Amino acid sequence: MKNIAVIGAGTMGNGIAHTFAQFDYKVNLIDISQESLDRGIATITKNLDRMVAKEKISEEDKSRTLNNITTFTDLEKGVKTTDLVVEAATENVDLKLKIFRDLENFCDENTILASNTSSISITQIAAVTKRPEKVIGMHFMNPVPIMKLVEIIKGYSTSQETYKVIEDLSKKLNKVPVEVNDYPGFVANRILMPMINEAIETLYNGVAGVKEIDTVMMLGMAHPMGPLALADFIGLDVCLSILNVMYDGFKNPKYAPCPLLVNMVMAGKLGAKSGEGFYDYSENRKAEVVAAMFSK
Ligand code: NAD
Repeated sequence: MKNIAVIGAGTMGNGIAHTFAQFDYKVNLIDISQESLDRGIATITKNLDRMVAKEKISEEDKSRTLNNITTFTDLEKGVKTTDLVVEAATENVDLKLKIFRDLENFCDENTILASNTSSISITQIAAVTKRPEKVIGMHFMNPVPIMKLVEIIKGYSTSQETYKVIEDLSKKLNKVPVEVNDYPGFVANRILMPMINEAIETLYNGVAGVKEIDTVMMLGMAHPMGPLALADFIGLDVCLSILNVMYDGFKNPKYAPCPLLVNMVMAGKLGAKSGEGFYDYSENRKAEVVAAMFSK
């Protein structure tokens, strides 16, 4: 494993590219939008600057990391001659199925195809390729350069050999891999999203305000961040997609997204990335949250 393609330069994609590049892998970062690529590189640079300021890495490490990343808007060119593709595009089933159909055609037959999806079935994604044994979930946590966990999801047909390669690779990135089977929401979001949804429901029912709900969970349960701030940080559209996947997958009303969440997403209030969610981000609150996490 030397050459890695990362598809999507958004919240997760830029963090995944940063992490691989920091550990000296050659990364092709691919996005359909040049603007997203520019924003992604700017975010990586800012996060590396923070690490230099905290003396966690040197200026040379920063330059080496940035030099390891090449950007592409053309998928075919970007995935050519890569050993592993990590797809981190928008959480949408049809979009991911289209990307994996294209990857099947554009990549060498030995390339492992991984998805960073939060909830979409790896088995379903693998089924549109001719190499389902080489398709796997590699679910990083946000912010990727900081968070230790990688949830590795084995689809119905994922081979043990593919699992082992991704497990070893995760360890080389100084992460802690955890093996999980392919059911809606896997483990992380199956437990996290009902809590976030319940926090939104609590707000919707007028039991308490945003700050009050988050304070109860931070000071009462020792959570480093309240569930509403965390939802803003993850992206409210991403939370809604995950809840819908679990609701459809289990046919269980306990996963039904709160109507307030649905309304906020329809109104374009997506959290930190859109400038407004449960909190107002016009005064750089997102930067504050990220800075607090990078200072740990
Ligand atoms: P995001 O909206 O921040 O970024 C998605 C990026 O994908 C955008 O830059 C968009 O331009 C790009 N994109 C869309 N279609 C594309 C295509 N066909 N080819 C290439 N790029 C394309 O989303 P995100 O939060 O980074 O989420 C990405 C994936 O990671 C999703 O599957 C999500 O479920 C998962 N994930 C998100 C989080 C989180 O905290 N946000 C955590 C873990 C996993």
